[in-house]
Amino acid sequence: MDIRENLLKIKSALPDGVQLIAVSKFHPAETVKEAYDAGQRVFGESRVQELTAKQPVLPGDVEWHFIGTLQTNKVRHIAPFVAMIQSVDSLKLMREIDFQAGKCGRTIRTLIEVHIAGEDSKHGFSTGECRSLFAEDVLRQFAHTQVCGLMGMATFTDDTEQVRREFGALRTLFEEIRCMPAVDRSVFRELSMGMSDDYPAAISKGSTMVRIGTGIFGARQYF
Ligand SMILES: *Cc1c(COP(=O)(O)O)cnc(C)c1O
Repeated sequence: MDIRENLLKIKSALPDGVQLIAVSKFHPAETVKEAYDAGQRVFGESRVQELTAKQPVLPGDVEWHFIGTLQTNKVRHIAPFVAMIQSVDSLKLMREIDFQAGKCGRTIRTLIEVHIAGEDSKHGFSTGECRSLFAEDVLRQFAHTQVCGLMGMATFTDDTEQVRREFGALRTLFEEIRCMPAVDRSVFRELSMGMSDDYPAAISKGSTMVRIGTGIFGARQYF
């Protein structure tokens, strides 16, 4: 697997304004360093223990994004350094992120995870719940977080029409929220959707952040 080559190929195909999150979960720090040496600075991880092990051994200018299911009792381990938590799937979690960010004297950027897939197994707020969070300005109470947009995962399927439909629905919700009076559009502007297998569809539907693991690093090593 030539990580540098994969990175260059993917990056050169991304339109302006679409950021690449290199998803390094299940890959050892040395592998992450290879991508770093090829110029990548933004990485996504989905497990707290793995992230806290890698963070100290990689250069300090890496921007870490947390993208997996996050238990409230583990937020404190990543709050001192995490740049963005993309997987906020409950108010309880948001409250804890805000509390821990405050304790560290930081502001943590977040995305609200929305459940757009047909299948039940994925986390996140429903479209309706997400809409009310913003319509009722529920998130204003959190002073140490900056809600920068939405994140979603499409159904894992070969049916590209379904995937496009799901991404399209998230885009529509995103635009709707951006137009709400309480929402600051200069902050709320990220739409994180698209993984190795479906990122072209996500980009065609307006993604601003693609989260790509396998396409860069190859198959995950379950160590
Ligand atoms: C693992 C993961 C990815 C990357 O998946 P690939 O198919 O390897 O690109 C993206 N987003 C989330 C939330 C993930 O958990």
